[in-house]
Amino acid sequence: MTLAQVQQFNLNMVLECQWCGHKRLMDAGKLLLKFPPEMTMKQLAERARCKNRGCPGRSGAEVLFRLGDRKDDWWPRVPIIRGR
Ligand SMILES: [Zn+2]
Repeated sequence: MTLAQVQQFNLNMVLECQWCGHKRLMDAGKLLLKFPPEMTMKQLAERARCKNRGCPGRSGAEVLFRLGDRKDDWWPRVPIIRGR
């Protein structure tokens, strides 16, 4: 999966922090202004830093996709719910 494909299929892309579980909705159009279209989700996750205050962000992040309205309509897995 590349950035270009995310935009092409108009996917809802969420970046989840592996440390604190903080989630951020990503805009493929905006990312494409900064990154090449052939950039993979793995490369993107490696570059991403958690913006949550107090989070060291050391564990990196993972890119998840919201595919539909149902609670489990996520790929490759549902997000982790932590804390509040
Ligand atoms: Zn975090």
